[in-house]
Amino acid sequence: MMCDVAIVGGGLAGASLAVALAPLGYDVKVIEAVAYQAAEQPSYDDRTLALSHSSCRILSSIGLWKTLEQDATPIRKIDITELERPGRVVLDPAEMGLEAFGHVVEARRFGVAVTKHLRQTPNLEVISPARVTNIEIGGTVNKLHLECDSGPEQIEARLVVAADGANSFIRNHLNIETDTRDYGQTAIICNVTPEKAHEGRAFECLTDTGPFAVLPHTGTRCGLVWSVPTEIAQEILDLDEATFLAQAQQRFGAKLGKFVKAGQRSAYPLKLVRAREDIRERLVILGNAAHAIHPIGAQGFNLALRDAAILAEILADDEQHDPGDAGLLNTYSQWRQKDQRGTIASSDGMTRLFAHPSPLAAGLRTTGLIAHSIFPSLRRWSAIKAMGYRGRVPRLALGEPLRQP
Ligand SMILES: Cc1cc2nc3c(=O)[nH]c(=O)nc-3n(C[C@H](O)[C@H](O)[C@H](O)COP(=O)(O)OP(=O)(O)OC[C@H]3O[C@@H](n4cnc5c(N)ncnc54)[C@H](O)[C@@H]3O)c2cc1C
Repeated sequence: MMCDVAIVGGGLAGASLAVALAPLGYDVKVIEAVAYQAAEQPSYDDRTLALSHSSCRILSSIGLWKTLEQDATPIRKIDITELERPGRVVLDPAEMGLEAFGHVVEARRFGVAVTKHLRQTPNLEVISPARVTNIEIGGTVNKLHLECDSGPEQIEARLVVAADGANSFIRNHLNIETDTRDYGQTAIICNVTPEKAHEGRAFECLTDTGPFAVLPHTGTRCGLVWSVPTEIAQEILDLDEATFLAQAQQRFGAKLGKFVKAGQRSAYPLKLVRAREDIRERLVILGNAAHAIHPIGAQGFNLALRDAAILAEILADDEQHDPGDAGLLNTYSQWRQKDQRGTIASSDGMTRLFAHPSPLAAGLRTTGLIAHSIFPSLRRWSAIKAMGYRGRVPRLALGEPLRQP
């Protein structure tokens, strides 16, 4: 089999890229190891994703937002505090002339919407379940070896995009080095139902073991992301519902009244993994395969979506119509440096600053929060970054078509 672009991994990042590329006329194949309907699909699980303002615009420009919007909850305020210390910032989109900073969507709902879209799009083929087990690089195409239900297959592609997650097979197979940091923290996630209406408020309480975040969700539900030391994660998972809710309540306080119900809990060990190279010959490393970051600030998929939007824009401008052209891939890599570096530094820096036990770090944290509460310009600066506008903004995030008339 031959194609223009082969995307390895049809998770959040890979599938979004495929949808963005579809109108450009390239022959695109998505190879996904786990069947989309499977309960164990790793990308489309119970996680609540906070999508930034720029992400919602990108998703709207590529035609996914209409479906997603039905189950999306607008973020109308962000309330940031530090556990057991003074200092509180409330970010209000009205200060930026906006109604919402972004929206919260369940990853599983995203999976349903994107899968439907992929299956209905011509010149786009999803091969799943199929696992890539080898890649040969070089020449006018790269060759992928696949293990499918029907047996082994091969695909030749002018461009391969490795969107195969934080433990990327392709990145590891090609010996692309990574910088990694194990935070010793695990995120416990689940839905909780509080007594009071969330009114679109997102709460982030910063603690020495990571954030305790409560995100507004559909109906009366909220999405809880609770970072705990990894050594006690199993203990928290095993708590009966009443004890779990009581402990969560103790951390969160009574901002939304009493937590009355919790959904199924899952755990995610938290690590920073950053690939030292994001391009090779006819190859781009994208999404978590390129940079898996701490969920503090909820930036991981938002960053990946900007990668996808920019790659699509560069390929849209390709007059030679060779998506694997080295010049194009260099342009992509250079364009992405500033945003990737800034977003990773802010997520890593915040995580480490809040985990640091020294009084100096504590002083810096409180000063930072108080300064934000006093100065509107500082709040706006932080809000613009959180909304995903960092560095040169892709056309799709400006609501413009990929191909300029
Ligand atoms: C607790 C938590 C909360 C988060 N909250 C947010 C948030 O609010 N906002 C946000 O923007 N981000 C958030 N993130 C980050 C977000 O989940 C990730 O950035 C996102 O999942 C990355 O998607 P991906 O497609 O790159 O990787 P993945 O989701 O890991 O998908 C990789 C895909 O590749 C497939 N695959 C793997 N190997 C192969 C192979 N050899 N062949 C074929 N297919 C293969 C896998 O089956 C999978 O479907 C959160 C993360 C965590 C842990």
